[in-house]
Amino acid sequence: THFGFETVDETDKARRVAGVFTSVASKYDIMNDLMSAGLHRIWKRFAISVSGVRQGQRVLDVAGGSADLSRLFLKKVGSTGQVVLTDINNAMLRVGRDRLLDEGIATPVAQCDAEHLPFPDNYFDCVSIAFGLRNVTHKDAALREMKRVLKPGGRVIVLEFSKVAKPLEKAYDLYSFKLLPKMGQLIAGDADSYKYLAESIRMHPGQEELKSMMLEAGLERVEYFNLTGGVVAVHRGYKL
Ligand code: SAM
Repeated sequence: THFGFETVDETDKARRVAGVFTSVASKYDIMNDLMSAGLHRIWKRFAISVSGVRQGQRVLDVAGGSADLSRLFLKKVGSTGQVVLTDINNAMLRVGRDRLLDEGIATPVAQCDAEHLPFPDNYFDCVSIAFGLRNVTHKDAALREMKRVLKPGGRVIVLEFSKVAKPLEKAYDLYSFKLLPKMGQLIAGDADSYKYLAESIRMHPGQEELKSMMLEAGLERVEYFNLTGGVVAVHRGYKL
């Protein structure tokens, strides 16, 4: 593959992820809409609805980037709740924070790695990660951290690309490996970053595998919901 993804070492992966998101940050929102034909908005709303987050609760948005999830969570928790927006990448975080500020919303923001969350144990009612887990080098460590900062009874929500249903496989491969990099080149002037995205989607664990990883991290009652034929899935697990 272009990035030789399977053979690069871990520091390389982290560095590449940083490069990709710094380079796509300014075009990130428009590309999301174009690449998913607006579907990402529906997927995100669905993730929020299965989170069951209510007024007054505390939410941590990991790898929150442009703050799409944070914005929706902020509406749920109201003025008595709290949403903390985090991301490892400063450029992405700035896009997210500026967007919230433009809408008159000030919320705590922290630059941090999903593998080392700078928050106390048993603090949040919900921890989310949307389209972020596949970029994390040690997913097991990130899932354990997400569980650690959750209160007992709290839940982790993972929204991520997943394995599509068999009949869709060919069309999906064609789309992600041929069309996606072309769109990336045309609109963002950056085919490589979008090649990386397609590659990272293909390498990401499928529905059952991610469910096992969440159970392995100590989460319980883990289940998932397929959306758009498995193009994405929402996994939910509880700390009990
Ligand atoms: N959650 C946002 C959304 O759904 O639109 C942003 C998703 S974006 C595809 C992935 C984000 O993951 C990027 O902002 C990137 O900087 C962040 N990221 C990558 N590796 C990370 C890590 N180890 N810890 C925290 N964030 C990470």
